[in-house]
Amino acid sequence: MTRITVAKGDGIGPEIMDATLRIIMAAGAELEIDEIAVGEQVYLSGNTAGIAPESWDTIRRNKIFLKAPITTPQGGGYKSLNVTTRKFLGLYANIRPCISFDPFVRTKHPDMDVVIVRENEEDLYAGIEHQQTDEVVQCLKLISRPGSEKIVRYAFEYAKQYGRKKVTCFTKDNIMKQTDGLFHQVFDEVAKEYPEIENEHWIIDIGAAKLADTPEIFDVIVMPNLYGDVLSDVAAQIAGSVGLAGSANIGETCAMFEAIHGSAPRRAGQNLANPSGLLQGAIQMLVHIGQTEVAEKVQNAWLKTIEDGVHTYDIFKEGISNQKVGTKEFADAVIANIGQKPSKLKEVFYAKDSELKLPKYIRKTPAKKELLGVDLFVHWNGYNPDEIAEKLKRVEIAGVKLSMITNRGIKVWPDGFEETFCTDHWRCRFKPVEGETITKSDIIQLLSNAEDKGIDVVKTENLYSFDGRQAFSLGQGQ
Ligand code: NAD
Repeated sequence: MTRITVAKGDGIGPEIMDATLRIIMAAGAELEIDEIAVGEQVYLSGNTAGIAPESWDTIRRNKIFLKAPITTPQGGGYKSLNVTTRKFLGLYANIRPCISFDPFVRTKHPDMDVVIVRENEEDLYAGIEHQQTDEVVQCLKLISRPGSEKIVRYAFEYAKQYGRKKVTCFTKDNIMKQTDGLFHQVFDEVAKEYPEIENEHWIIDIGAAKLADTPEIFDVIVMPNLYGDVLSDVAAQIAGSVGLAGSANIGETCAMFEAIHGSAPRRAGQNLANPSGLLQGAIQMLVHIGQTEVAEKVQNAWLKTIEDGVHTYDIFKEGISNQKVGTKEFADAVIANIGQKPSKLKEVFYAKDSELKLPKYIRKTPAKKELLGVDLFVHWNGYNPDEIAEKLKRVEIAGVKLSMITNRGIKVWPDGFEETFCTDHWRCRFKPVEGETITKSDIIQLLSNAEDKGIDVVKTENLYSFDGRQAFSLGQGQ
């Protein structure tokens, strides 16, 4: 018996949750359920988090959370409960199987069977944004070694557990050499530990194009957060319908399972919605908590129902479907099929002990870190790079000189192009001259000089090497 937390959510949430629970209980799921309220009502009662503090206690105690979609009210101030839950509970892995059920659910990709493994906590989703000048705002993209190692290892362990043959990594490390470069590097390192599984890396743009065109060439794909967010929806949609996909959000201690679609408020309360997405999430949950036989029964009964042509409105197609049913009737049909197997779609088998057990991340020995220079980011309303260079030369100290200015990353001084468009946001790089070094005190002196000269420094970035490897980007065109 496993005690789980359930939230019925908003819109179509209560209907699809009732259908889902009815199906899995009928198949013999051994669950005790604590229900909590999340979503619209909680938001509108004045709680901007959309969840009461005591509900967190329930979620943390039970560790397993099955959540229906919720409606985030329009207007400022309401925080996304999904994002908060993922980050509070450290749910670093988002697992989304995208499988086509051809010919029963129409798709251009009948042989698609892809699992997207998305990093769920970091990247541009750290939500660290600042406006620095009149013209420029910034969002910090944070990629960490532990974050990358955990998600990449999860992808390989998942592949091993589910008998998948290949793990592909998508990044844009030809441009983001430090951040995506780290993710790719960690992928290459971890891949070596799994010689039995094929591995490959694609630059995200051509990778995404291939995924949309010939998804059958992929098996498991692991990605940083933003790419994974976008491409997991694309993958679910081209497999046939976003309404059929579930997702698991896995952490070291807790896990949350859900449908990938939203609360479809226009369909609420009409017994119309397809419960399959949430049911797929619930099946992932049953596998995760070790009730694999029940998961297998439910999935096979669901596949049989789909191939029987018993379809809700969203996937109903004349000529393919046999019967258009509502949420309740669909659930009844799945329940009636429990114990049966699909005859055309592939029957599923889940290994007995399917919960992935990953080693805890162990911090590596710190590298030798050396300060090599500093970038001062300056808010300046002029247009001519030579002029700002003249001003900044007056900030220089003995042994530390202005070496380069870039604007939006492109080098504009020395030897810039007149054609380059410049904003009011200038990155001014100071480095020690040959044979000299730079210290933190030197940086403070530079900042103090800039302040004295009326130069508006909006931020600094120290330039380091780690174990002798230069760990910052050059100016484009440098
Ligand atoms: P949506 O996924 O709710 O709906 C998109 C379209 O798909 C609609 O036409 C809808 O009728 C249809 N649809 C979705 N699920 C269906 C199902 N199970 N059966 C049949 N048809 C289905 O996306 P949206 O309209 O952009 O968002 C509605 C609300 O859901 C918003 O408040 C949004 O914030 C929220 N949302 C919540 C989650 C979540 O809780 N995980 C995710 C996405 C959106």
